[in-house]
Amino acid sequence: MRTQVGIIGAGPAGLLLSRLLALQGIDSVVLENRSRDYVEARVRAGILEQHTVDTLTAAGLGDRLHRQGLEHSGIHLQYPGTRHTLDFPSLCGRSVWVYGQTEVVKDLVAAQLDGGPPLLFEVSDVQPEGVDTDSPRIRFTDAAGAPQVLECDVVAGTDGFHGPSRATVQEAGGRVWERTYPYAWLGILADATPATDELVYAWHPEGFALYSMRSPSVSRLYLQVDPSERIEDWSDERIWDALDTRMALEGWSVNRGPVTEKSILPMRSFVSAPMRRGRLFLAGDAAHIVPPTGAKGLNLAVADVTLLAQALVRLLQDKETDLVDSYSDRALARVWRCTHFSWWMTSMLHRSGDDFDAQLQLAQLRRVCSSETAARELAENYTGLPLGS
Ligand SMILES: Cc1cc2nc3c(=O)[nH]c(=O)nc-3n(C[C@H](O)[C@H](O)[C@H](O)COP(=O)(O)OP(=O)(O)OC[C@H]3O[C@@H](n4cnc5c(N)ncnc54)[C@H](O)[C@@H]3O)c2cc1C
Repeated sequence: MRTQVGIIGAGPAGLLLSRLLALQGIDSVVLENRSRDYVEARVRAGILEQHTVDTLTAAGLGDRLHRQGLEHSGIHLQYPGTRHTLDFPSLCGRSVWVYGQTEVVKDLVAAQLDGGPPLLFEVSDVQPEGVDTDSPRIRFTDAAGAPQVLECDVVAGTDGFHGPSRATVQEAGGRVWERTYPYAWLGILADATPATDELVYAWHPEGFALYSMRSPSVSRLYLQVDPSERIEDWSDERIWDALDTRMALEGWSVNRGPVTEKSILPMRSFVSAPMRRGRLFLAGDAAHIVPPTGAKGLNLAVADVTLLAQALVRLLQDKETDLVDSYSDRALARVWRCTHFSWWMTSMLHRSGDDFDAQLQLAQLRRVCSSETAARELAENYTGLPLGS
């Protein structure tokens, strides 16, 4: 087997990279170790920045997004007794969209299988090799159990946090920065009409809570919990009661409904540099993780592959190395901006148990809710800085 770009991982990063390259006449093959059903059902992110919507639309993937996605013009910030609205268009001229990662992945898979580049599910033993040469390859076992070699010009490691690509880059040297937060998010999906027009980010003495949604009839809600908590110990009743307490506001209440999914998500920041070794390039969660408070993970993956696609087109069509040589530094500049914003949102909203910290958090929240300058800083980062800034 031979292709120009061998792509490991069919998450948003790998699938979108394949699509962007195909639109520029570059061949690729995507190798994924899970099944199509599994990949399409994985419930994760749901907030798309303006540049993500623009990129998906320009790539011909905007049909369902524009029909079913919900454009949101702000968020509510809440602390006991106060719910304050930040209006993004008036603060920074941009908005965000609510459209689940499951839907983004379904649109990408459908486009790929409808005449797009090959996408192989349920492969195993995937390993990039020879990445320091001009003819790298990927060894893997196909779904029928036969060993295969995919010869390529370039390998893209878009295999998420647990894939093999990052280790191959780090073997040649590099650095990792990591922060594990002493919090986790317990998240639920519920068949319940959202009781709010915008997402509500709520600070509360008993811990952070977030009211979000996936559609006009599906709510997505989160509670800050200790990372040692077990999901079995959280009955639906206990979750709704905690949400009622932490999101309480006079004259308003949380809408309950059947819970269709619940899980606990640990929170960490992680950055691995460089995002390249020879002809192997990392993008998305393979190179970095952010806590979900800033809604940045999926958007960063899209930003990475937008840069990477441009760089690979220039390398493979024009034989120029300038954009691949600067790819890692340019991608990491945005990664660190988003890592800072995600850390800042997390630090402002999650209870550490320390009363001094609590007063600092409330002072910061009051500042964001009363100063246009402070609100604009949040709005610019939340809606996503323009690519390249
Ligand atoms: C459990 C979880 C919950 C999240 N929740 C939120 C949230 O609520 N809000 C938010 O903003 N962000 C959230 N995120 C972050 C966001 O979903 C990710 O940043 C985003 O999925 C990154 O896309 P990606 O394509 O880089 O990686 P991924 O989506 O992880 O895709 C990587 C792909 O590579 C495949 N793969 C892995 N190993 C191999 C291998 N050896 N061979 C072949 N294929 C392989 C995987 O199966 C997967 O399909 C969450 C992430 C996780 C893990």
